[in-house]
Amino acid sequence: MRPPCVMPSRSTTSGSFCGPEPHRPPENPINIDLHSHSSQSDGLLRPQDVAARAHANGVDVWALSDHDELSGLDEAASAARSLGMAFIPGVEISVTFCEKTVHILGLNIDARHDHLRDGLQTVRASRHVRARQIADRLHDLGLGDCYEGALALAQNPDLLSRAHFARFLHETGACRSMQKAFDKYLGDGRPAFVPVQWAGLDQAIEWIRGAGGKAVIAHPGRYTFSPQQFDALFERFKELGGVGIEVVTGSHAPRQYAEYARVARHYGFEGSRGSDFHAPGRSRVDLGALPDLPLDVTPVWHDWL
Ligand code: AMP
Ligand code: MN
Ligand code: MN
Ligand code: MN
Repeated sequence: MRPPCVMPSRSTTSGSFCGPEPHRPPENPINIDLHSHSSQSDGLLRPQDVAARAHANGVDVWALSDHDELSGLDEAASAARSLGMAFIPGVEISVTFCEKTVHILGLNIDARHDHLRDGLQTVRASRHVRARQIADRLHDLGLGDCYEGALALAQNPDLLSRAHFARFLHETGACRSMQKAFDKYLGDGRPAFVPVQWAGLDQAIEWIRGAGGKAVIAHPGRYTFSPQQFDALFERFKELGGVGIEVVTGSHAPRQYAEYARVARHYGFEGSRGSDFHAPGRSRVDLGALPDLPLDVTPVWHDWL
């Protein structure tokens, strides 16, 4: 059995916090951020630097949730420990459902679990194949050889993301911004977009549950499913033992917080809160800088703290 996650007392946390204690309503006394990325996937900061930024922003409970990757969790946990900040080990798994990519967060997982580790290894193998295909398409579009350049930007060669290609296209002046690189070349349906058969929804949930974690649908408001497909996703997810959806996330517009709070109540899901932070200035919302989870949604962390 894994030891339960250790919560710091408020005095420990605020004792080392520089600056004024952020005001929080008494109903929500903690600042919890359960979605963020490090340079072990497509973020820009090392895990220990993401931890430091979360802590400086007043986060009390923090999860690192790199794409398809667990290798940042040890560094993140020890950085959080030395800062007196509670840490939740996480992962964001790439899944294919109805021929589209869906991200499933595994939260409070035991990262030593072999079934999860082996499963993620197969997902990362698909990334290797896809990266070569993306580079071929960019080459055919007249952009030269982008593979080595994108790889050089990846701290973790096992985790090449479209974001690395976008950064390379931006930094070499081929595109004015990373966003433009997605809009013009890499985004879904664009000329250098290569569809991948990621993990099945059933597999991802099985890996997460097998590792003792909770499966949570990341940023549901970002998917372009029909109402029937959304219903199928939520029903199937629930049937398979998924427990939560992100309600308050940096990927949702503010009006979607209430919308997905209603979805959570309708399907009996718990709700999560996470910035989806990738890098300073590159994410819409900074670590910990989100509105609170609506009070009529059961938080995913209700039985952890
Ligand atoms: P991948 O998992 O390699 O397909 O890359 C997906 C990652 O690229 C996401 O996690 C985002 O960080 C980033 N991303 C995806 N689509 C966009 C977009 N349209 N604009 C900017 N970043 C994007
Ligand atoms: Mn990402
Ligand atoms: Mn995502
Ligand atoms: Mn994410």
